[in-house]
Amino acid sequence: MTIPESQPVPSTATSEPLRILITGSAGFVGSHLVERFLNEGHTVIGVDNYISGQVSNTDLFRDHPRFTFIEADVSHGIPYEGEKLDWVMHFASPASPPHYQQFPVETLMVGAQGTQNGLELAHAHGAGFFLASTSEVYGDPHVHPQPETYWGNVNPIGVRSCYDEAKRYAEAITMAYHRSRGVNTRIIRIFNTYGPRMRPDDGRVITNFVHQALRGEPLTVYGDGSQTRSFQYIDDLIEGISRLVMVNYHEPVNLGNPDEFTMLELVKIIDDEVAHTSIRFLDLPKDDPKVRNPDLNLKLSLIGHTDFKSLREGISFTIRNMSKRA
Ligand code: NAD
Ligand code: UDP
Repeated sequence: MTIPESQPVPSTATSEPLRILITGSAGFVGSHLVERFLNEGHTVIGVDNYISGQVSNTDLFRDHPRFTFIEADVSHGIPYEGEKLDWVMHFASPASPPHYQQFPVETLMVGAQGTQNGLELAHAHGAGFFLASTSEVYGDPHVHPQPETYWGNVNPIGVRSCYDEAKRYAEAITMAYHRSRGVNTRIIRIFNTYGPRMRPDDGRVITNFVHQALRGEPLTVYGDGSQTRSFQYIDDLIEGISRLVMVNYHEPVNLGNPDEFTMLELVKIIDDEVAHTSIRFLDLPKDDPKVRNPDLNLKLSLIGHTDFKSLREGISFTIRNMSKRA
């Protein structure tokens, strides 16, 4: 593994105008990527079938002169016939456990066929291919924090496997197209990310807790609340992506926040921000990972130091945003 020495690397903000196709553009992360690239002067083609996304996220950009939207299921093909692309960024996939468990077959297909369709499109255009993978490839980890060299502990037939194994396959086929067809690929493993534009009903812990707190309902803690996650604010993820596009490195890179919290610690932060909250303990879902924390040494060596928003600050901002929409 060769790590480039040129640090800190520039971001897409300094590159020539690019033509970028983003699958999953109507989703939480995809819509922030669209916004960032349009603001930087690039041309963006968004593709989505709204299985877990929101039309309101497409509406934000519909009238933008450099934005085009294609409604399509990328597992069946990506019907793009426009000018030469510079990048295909594959972010389409249900991502919250309730969504992917409601659509397990579709989730496997978008990780498998959807990824291959994106790779074929990139290959045909001589474009780069950027894969949104996940910390879920580490499963319920035996190594903590998780470095990219850890191969993971995933139950291949469990209720989370439709997502975890789809992403593991997506990584494998991305490396195969890189090695055997010469596609210029990137793979990121995203750790739990939150912020404005998450679907209010997506069922992820921060969305649930914030909405429950705003409605004065008890916060639903699964299990005893001792399990941990490391929560990354959306802007920090987008900054990392924008810099990694510019780095010629093809193996997976973790993108996340280094601070780790138990769910009970998260409750305390929400409680401080919103008012007095109560807790309702519910059963821990099957195969729920006990810990999750990114080893960020590789990221640091590739793109240098980038700022992290603290959980308290990010939650405060997210609460203000969600209370406007509630
Ligand atoms: P999201 O559900 O908000 O967005 C995903 C988007 O993909 C949705 O708009 C959905 O309609 C679209 N989509 C799904 N299947 C499709 C298909 N077959 N064809 C076309 N569009 C399709 O989820 P998100 O949080 O924005 O996640 C985006 C990506 O980042 C996903 O690939 C996810 O696995 C990855 N990721 C996210 C997180 C996180 O914490 N948000 C963590 C790890 C990885
Ligand atoms: N969780 C919780 N209450 C909720 C939703 C989730 O305690 O209302 C827990 C869940 O069991 C997990 C953690 O919060 O341990 C993060 O869950 P999320 O669905 O946000 O992401 P993931 O499990 O994919 O990391």
